[in-house]
Amino acid sequence: MQALPEHTIVFTSLKDGSHRFHYRLGPDFFLACGDEDLLGGEAGVDVDLEKANHLLVARIHVQGLARMLCDHCNAPMDQPVEGEQRQIFKLTGAEETDEDELVSLDSGAHEINLTHYIYECLRLHLPIRHVHPPGQCDPEVTKVLDKALVNHEPDPRWAKLNELKNKGA
Ligand SMILES: [Zn+2]
Repeated sequence: MQALPEHTIVFTSLKDGSHRFHYRLGPDFFLACGDEDLLGGEAGVDVDLEKANHLLVARIHVQGLARMLCDHCNAPMDQPVEGEQRQIFKLTGAEETDEDELVSLDSGAHEINLTHYIYECLRLHLPIRHVHPPGQCDPEVTKVLDKALVNHEPDPRWAKLNELKNKGA
């Protein structure tokens, strides 16, 4: 995971209160993720950052498309993704906390970088199973899969059952 400079927020120069940031995610971002499941994509990110005394609350909202391989035909597809995640940064200089959404920053810190958190938000909201809409899978692969299904050997137990049925008749 590589931090992109455009996702760095120098919070010491911000007044207390809420601030909004907008980013476009493109090839640079998906490359920086270093996630081999994500082949590319395009998304918009809105970050609402609330600054208070020794505290930063970032509400990250991601909406767009992630290019992934279809679980059915293995051809690339664009998976729609949308979701939100909250991340709290505390300027304590204290030891790390175990809470997932709370990150301790050094009391001397003056900036945060959001690339990692934007990636987390996107990844978290991607469905586990991703397939093309019906009828849009790679036709070559679909043909092979359908054929495999047709040629599938019947369960031998059924043959046995039929044998018994025929005997009884
Ligand atoms: Zn497919």
